[in-house]
Amino acid sequence: MRELVPYVPGEQPRIANLVKLNTNENPYPPSPRVTAAIADAASKGLELYPDPESTILRETIADYHGIDPGQVFPGNGSDEVLAHSFFAFFQQDRPLLMPDVTYSFYRVYCQLYGIQAQLLAVDEALQIDVAGYRGRRAGGVVIANPNAPTGSALPLTAVEQLLQSQPDCVVLVDEAYVDFGAESAIPLVDRYPNLLVVQTLSKSRSLAGLRVGFAVGQRHLIEALERVKNSFNSYPLDRLAVAGAVAAYEDREHFEQTRQTVMRSRDELTVQMWRLGFDVLPSSANFVFARHPKQDAAALAARLREHGVLVRHFSQPRIAQYLRISVGTPVQCDALVNALRLLIPAD
Ligand code: PMP
Repeated sequence: MRELVPYVPGEQPRIANLVKLNTNENPYPPSPRVTAAIADAASKGLELYPDPESTILRETIADYHGIDPGQVFPGNGSDEVLAHSFFAFFQQDRPLLMPDVTYSFYRVYCQLYGIQAQLLAVDEALQIDVAGYRGRRAGGVVIANPNAPTGSALPLTAVEQLLQSQPDCVVLVDEAYVDFGAESAIPLVDRYPNLLVVQTLSKSRSLAGLRVGFAVGQRHLIEALERVKNSFNSYPLDRLAVAGAVAAYEDREHFEQTRQTVMRSRDELTVQMWRLGFDVLPSSANFVFARHPKQDAAALAARLREHGVLVRHFSQPRIAQYLRISVGTPVQCDALVNALRLLIPAD
């Protein structure tokens, strides 16, 4: 345990009035139908355990994606679903392949479960090079699409190429940010027995505080996850979480509106940051990944904090000069841009 290096979540500050652009939360609240459903669920039945299978939520998600409820595995946030997936599928005598720049929790799960990871370099533009995964001895593959913290998305054809090049192991595609402009691999599930897609309600459905995520895959993969879950915690989703999550899927209009607004703000923020001299990677997520040729990223993040704006910096090889900035409301984005204007001298 002394050698285990845990994941470090972004700061959740107790100070009021900070512009919080550091953990990729949705800047808009969930649908009012979610809060009403949670209040209703809270008014009855809390003395009873919840449905261990979260059947209603499985059915709702299955209906939304046009799949079978038996192909859905819900969990307490997608982090839990990912943890169970790593435990179930990647403890192999062959290495788990993943990009060198990706969600840093993957490496933590590897350490926790003794999984050997092999990191494959993303290219100069920080894009995943799918061809590099072909023909390698692998016990599994994990990618985030769009990738984190870059925001870059692979087209579905590239995901399919990956599935075909590693047909004998599970290929996990983490789609935490997919609703902000990428293509989901869920329609491929029926054709690829090795595909597991993981999604979350934390981002595009504004429910980071409720903790709901899920995996989609063929029945044999879902059954494996159910075994792990039932050997760990029979009730990962409480009654309030299930009620709120179901209501979130029922309000399609709210979902469409907020995600479109976030995507518009992202594109506007990108232009503003270009004007300030930043290189901004094209993003299909609710955040941008940017570097300034004349500013040290860690120092800039610290100075932004002094101006009341929180952004995320990762002291990792290859990306240490980048900042990951979540897309906020127009008012929050303006506050960021104004602070940057003060900190970065015009040429
Ligand atoms: N995957 C990726 C790529 C993420 O960035 C995050 C958010 N930190 C998660 C999964 C986990 O999200 P949650 O546990 O809130 O569903």
